[in-house]
Amino acid sequence: MQEIKIGLEVHVQLNTESKLFCSCSTKRGEPNTNVCDICLGFPGTKPVLNEKAIELALKIGYALDCKINRKFLFSRKTYFYPDLPKNFQITQFEIPVAHKGKLKVRDREIRIRRVHLEEDPAKIIREDDYILLDYNRSGIPLAEIVTEPDLKSPAEARSFLQRLEQILEFIYVTDLNKEGSMRVDANISMTRYKIEYNYSKGGGITERKKGDQVEIKNISGAKEVEKALSYEVLRQKNIKEVKRETRLWNEKTKTTVSARVKEEEEEYGYIFEPDLPVIELSEEKLNKVCSNLPELPESKKKRFLKYKISEEIIDTLLTEPELTHYFEYLCETHNEKASAVILAKYLKKTLNYHNLKLRDVGIEVRHLRRILDLLQQYLITDDVAEIILREMVNDYINREEIREPKQVLRDLDYEKPLEEEKIRKFVREVIRENTKAVKDYHRGEEKALDYLIGQIMRKTGRRADAKRIKELLKFELD
Ligand code: ADP
Ligand code: MG
Ligand code: ZN
Repeated sequence: MQEIKIGLEVHVQLNTESKLFCSCSTKRGEPNTNVCDICLGFPGTKPVLNEKAIELALKIGYALDCKINRKFLFSRKTYFYPDLPKNFQITQFEIPVAHKGKLKVRDREIRIRRVHLEEDPAKIIREDDYILLDYNRSGIPLAEIVTEPDLKSPAEARSFLQRLEQILEFIYVTDLNKEGSMRVDANISMTRYKIEYNYSKGGGITERKKGDQVEIKNISGAKEVEKALSYEVLRQKNIKEVKRETRLWNEKTKTTVSARVKEEEEEYGYIFEPDLPVIELSEEKLNKVCSNLPELPESKKKRFLKYKISEEIIDTLLTEPELTHYFEYLCETHNEKASAVILAKYLKKTLNYHNLKLRDVGIEVRHLRRILDLLQQYLITDDVAEIILREMVNDYINREEIREPKQVLRDLDYEKPLEEEKIRKFVREVIRENTKAVKDYHRGEEKALDYLIGQIMRKTGRRADAKRIKELLKFELD
């Protein structure tokens, strides 16, 4: 028997144009091109705080239901490592931007201990017998989100991170498509209960053995965190004594290896950063950030559930903020269900296939409205709507201008869909030719109806919507 406790430290690269303490670009670029005296840590240089980074960290604080500290400061965390040319990292220790928040995952509330700002160290690229350093990453603003050890399983840690990613995307603070934009340290401890029979006392006794906390550093992505923690659970079950230590996750071998044994807490020797002032935010500033916070996915979901759309489709819309924005625009002019289906089924399927996001491809709301119009007028079937969307995504991939839906139909030499009158003609024909099936239907055999629809579909060459055919058929039969 065992009890698992997991706490996460999540580092998120913030979406700013420039770095946290200098004006260097945060773009990736050729290694060591976006650097200056400040982010290379030359002696005598002084940091200048990026206002935008504070705003983004505040947004995270509000989104995670935290208490915001109007007054906070920065500290130096001292350690010696090649990724850190100053020999200290500017971070927040005593008073973070925000603290004491929470995030609901399924039906459980996970407490957020703190959200603070810090600078990213340089990127280390390990080769066989040497390392390479890219200082482009040095000084990129990070928000570190620290949870309390409230998570109870590797799977729950994964769900937590997926929820967190979703929220971060909806409030536009980070670009999770960039590799390494979210990196996690996962802490885990296991308490084992040993039940033994004690004859002298005439009963079972329970020995409770508390394991030490193990930290697995620098894991990228929710799925990898789950794998690393699952491995760690197995490893700890199979050893007698668990030492307090820091381990590293190896994605290739799918194992954790010991990096260093922690005898006690590391001594980082935090001191106040003397080159930055204590920050004091005005009420006005806080109100502005708070009132401009985009609607969170949870609240969107509640609203969308009111339109009678399946939860599965709504969850698909909620995988990308743009899908929900488009949905709301489409609902202004078209039926909610049709709007949701075209986005969550047809478009999303094509995007997934190419591993793209809606915001990348340049398809506009107006394009989707035209497709919905065509569907509504029975000029195309659902299948054809999907084909049109596929073509439009291909336009983006081929770096061509996105074609109008009607143009796509012309280019595909798509025979003009059948006019209502033609469909009616086929319906009557099929009724005349299938007297037996018609009788069966009148006797209450629903299957006969499907058979008739199939016959009509064949005659129309699939150029008419099955639902519409059914309507017309029933009209003639009933
Ligand atoms: P610090 O490293 O600042 O001293 P902690 O080690 O207490 O602080 O916390 C760092 C992370 O470890 C947090 O995410 C916290 O939730 C987690 N943590 C703390 N105690 C435990 C524990 N017993 N088991 C698993 N995780 C823990
Ligand atoms: Mg720590
Ligand atoms: Zn710089």
